[in-house]
Amino acid sequence: MKADTLQEQARQLDGQDELASFRQAFVREAPELVYLLGNSLGRLPRATAQRLQTVVREEWGERLIRGWSEGWMDLPQRIGEKLGELVGARQGELIVADSTSANLYKVVVAALRLRPGRTKIVTDDLNFPSDLYILQGAIEASGKRHQLQIVPADDGIHGPVSTLADAIDEETAVLALSHTVFKSAYTYDMAALTKQAQEKGALVIWDLSHAVGVVPIDLQGAGADFAVGCTYKYLSGGPGAPAFLYVRAGLQEDAHNPLSGWMGQERPFDFGLAYEPAGGVRRFLTGTPPVLSLAAIEPGVDLVLAAGMAQVRAKSVRQTEYLLTLWEEKLEPLGFALRSPRDSKRRGSHVALGHPEAWRIAQALKAEMGVVPDFRRPDNMRFSVAPLYTSYQEIYEAVARLQTVIEHKLYENYPAEMATVT
Ligand SMILES: *Cc1c(COP(=O)(O)O)cnc(C)c1O
Repeated sequence: MKADTLQEQARQLDGQDELASFRQAFVREAPELVYLLGNSLGRLPRATAQRLQTVVREEWGERLIRGWSEGWMDLPQRIGEKLGELVGARQGELIVADSTSANLYKVVVAALRLRPGRTKIVTDDLNFPSDLYILQGAIEASGKRHQLQIVPADDGIHGPVSTLADAIDEETAVLALSHTVFKSAYTYDMAALTKQAQEKGALVIWDLSHAVGVVPIDLQGAGADFAVGCTYKYLSGGPGAPAFLYVRAGLQEDAHNPLSGWMGQERPFDFGLAYEPAGGVRRFLTGTPPVLSLAAIEPGVDLVLAAGMAQVRAKSVRQTEYLLTLWEEKLEPLGFALRSPRDSKRRGSHVALGHPEAWRIAQALKAEMGVVPDFRRPDNMRFSVAPLYTSYQEIYEAVARLQTVIEHKLYENYPAEMATVT
């Protein structure tokens, strides 16, 4: 009886959904596929397929080299300005370039140079491993003059806020954190932590990859120093789409890009022999902009802007709350543990559930149930809602199919050894 009530509730919520019309804006080749992986690779917007055709045929095909003077050169900044609206950046503070990892390298080295004499970078063990590798690499490259302090989260779910505050001291050059963490979706209070770190004289770098497009962000309001983030997750920019990079206006004059390539030069087409940094955030560009990939980002950003961040966030919270109700009713009794914050204020747009058989369950879901799961070692599954195209009925379906896999022990037919790409 209860199950039917929750299914009926999904239908009602879809019926009342103000953002329902946005579903049509995305390509849906397999209508029965339940896709809860917008946090890993966002769905393809219809307008993007169209835009790429135009850019390839008309801009590249017909204009050829003229394309550079007729718009291509400005893409990193022009799209950066739009994206900036989603994260509370002012004009001239955000550009689109390279990968998140490469951008993090650029800003962390710039930040360390702005705090000479200080010896510590502080982060947490919930941070994305690539971010930790980049911080380690930056320390190696600067002659090991810094040490990385990775503050552990006691429960592996919630950000260790008070231990972090204790770790930030007069030796700390940089605090680098993910705003929403990739495993549990815990979301830091950006303004509060930024203030705490800056009171100790440290600079703060936020990685917005798992937050941008689903969590309201106000970099300016929080006084953040630097930020980086992905565009291929909730922004639907496409596989390997270029990332973004933010530098607070007040720091730009003194912040230096260690990957000082010609696109960050003041006058690249003078072909001078000495590097002179361009004014503003443009100095954080390195090489030639990837025009096709940049063009593919814009339609996804436009869709989020059209929907409005407040509406997107409201639906995201309602959807993860609905998913948590399903979990309590149906999945907790089957041995699934909640690995995300219960408090929606501290939660991004996905819910992580742990189960000892998570890996085999994920394989069964994918092979037999038409649910694309996300598995993270050792025993986590993530279910992400992308408010622009995820429906409540899809969420219901995912949980119902998950129940089937467990109740019929379908996962027992799958190998326990893990694949290399999960
Ligand atoms: C997805 C993600 C990345 C990915 O970085 P790339 O360099 O674009 O591969 C980095 N950091 C975080 C927090 C992420 O969620």
